[in-house]
Amino acid sequence: ARQFTRPLNDLANQFNTLLSAIAGAERVFNVLDEKEERVDEGNAEELIHVDGDVEFKGVTFSYEEDTGGDTVHDINFHAYPGETIAFVGPTGAGKTTLINLISRFYDADNGSILVDGHEIKEVKRESLRKHMAFVLQDSFLFHGSIRENIRYGRLNATDEEVEAAAKQANAHSFIMKFPNGYETMIDQDGGGISQGQKQLLSISRAILANPKILILDEATSSIDTITEIKIQEALGRLMKGRTSFVIAHRLNTIQKADQILILKEGQLIESGTHEELIKQNGFYAELYLNQLKEKVI
Ligand code: ADP
Repeated sequence: ARQFTRPLNDLANQFNTLLSAIAGAERVFNVLDEKEERVDEGNAEELIHVDGDVEFKGVTFSYEEDTGGDTVHDINFHAYPGETIAFVGPTGAGKTTLINLISRFYDADNGSILVDGHEIKEVKRESLRKHMAFVLQDSFLFHGSIRENIRYGRLNATDEEVEAAAKQANAHSFIMKFPNGYETMIDQDGGGISQGQKQLLSISRAILANPKILILDEATSSIDTITEIKIQEALGRLMKGRTSFVIAHRLNTIQKADQILILKEGQLIESGTHEELIKQNGFYAELYLNQLKEKVI
């Protein structure tokens, strides 16, 4: 399926494989459930209520055995409900891998990952992901109408709820400019819908899903200034009151984060707020002086 173009992102890949293999959002969920029923532990529990407290304790993971080094090694952090956590570091540092672990596309080899105190290995995957929404660079749009694509966030949402979410996400006005409005089809190559508009649809879907935990991968591709402002505003609304993990590329996002986690070669080498890290005068401070200011991470 050629419409999905983020081959390096495991998370997107796994979803996209599913999405493109079958038609119709409802069936996606069924297949996801069936697949996961088999891999969950027999005594896996349902995660019913979550505030969005996420803790990594000594987490180590590698994609393949016997390759020597770990992909991520001895990662420790504690994200409190409602916080924004920015992952920062060079390409290949392990940012996406941490996201893959939080959402249990992979299980840690060592250490524990706790969501509201629950060891996520002992929780049903599907019930964990119910508390999460993903806004990725080339997010999960499938062949179907705009309405169906937004509704994928919560399958039993009414048309009114879909449109309310799109309004919150600054998507409603551009959707209404299409002759077919919400029935506009998103086709194979996403024709007619810009990169920035796709992001707004993805944010609409996340707002509709209303989870406590958000996974965001900031766009690196250039988006026009007006759409960019709309995206920022929509993200601000979406992130309010939720724990957000952001693979951050924008200085503004990083500076506002409650915790910046600096990764280098799979190690968490520094963490703190922007001010704290600047004072510390380490890797982040150097990165900030040399690169972040020019918006190239
Ligand atoms: P980042 O998001 O910071 O760019 P990643 O977490 O994607 O980094 O990658 C960390 C390391 O793990 C890289 O060396 C990358 O090549 C490797 N890696 C990523 N995904 C896989 C995979 N599915 N199988 C094997 N190695 C992988």
